[in-house]
Amino acid sequence: MRIGIVQLLKFIGINFYITFGMGLTEYKKKRTFRKTPEPTGGRAAGSELQFVVQKHDASRLHYDFRLELKGVLKSWAVPKGPSMNPAEKRLAMLVEDHPFDYKNFEGIIPEGNYGAGTVIIWDEGTYEPIEEAVEKNAQEVHLLKAFKAGSIKIRMHGKKLKGEFALVRTRGMEENSWLLIKHRDKFATENDISKKNKSVVSGKTIEGMMKYKKAKQWKSNRSTPSTSSRTQKKTTKTKTTRGRRLKSKS
Ligand code: MN
Repeated sequence: MRIGIVQLLKFIGINFYITFGMGLTEYKKKRTFRKTPEPTGGRAAGSELQFVVQKHDASRLHYDFRLELKGVLKSWAVPKGPSMNPAEKRLAMLVEDHPFDYKNFEGIIPEGNYGAGTVIIWDEGTYEPIEEAVEKNAQEVHLLKAFKAGSIKIRMHGKKLKGEFALVRTRGMEENSWLLIKHRDKFATENDISKKNKSVVSGKTIEGMMKYKKAKQWKSNRSTPSTSSRTQKKTTKTKTTRGRRLKSKS
């Protein structure tokens, strides 16, 4: 039996979707992209694995710790942010995968959208598993196994975060709770790294970004009433489920 070009392209398309599209279903479900400047997708590029830590002043201030893995960003919300002190284990709540392009996002997520608030790129760089694996593909195979096993050991090459860290799933606590722990190495210090509070991209603090007139943000506040109310309901429901309160900024 011969396969035509149309069938072949369809086949490739479906597989492309399965590989790159499916992992972000939950991420997309929570957002209305007409109303938020957050990215919808993106492809991983480069021979090294990337990481980003975004400081996010939402209903509660937290840091989003994201590791590139298999084309998406594995993501944890870290209420107190990473620490360079091995004695300070930081709670890290695993959240849904984010699209690769999210690592470039800083700006303002408009009120009424999921995660409404201000975002800066607090740190970024590359990372690798501590265990020897030189080539990116081999590293990802190793890391995915470690992720599923609930124990990831990495070496970070950021502007703020440097050296070895572990992410360990905890038992007996809430589901999805992990700990982010600095290993003892030459980069370990008791100095409070959160005092370095500026974006490594724009040099802006959260407050600076809030005041920045050219910050990426919601372009239009016009929408059809039916869509608007549906979105509002959805957002509220999500927030309630996660036990968060909507903060009024006005
Ligand atoms: Mn966040």
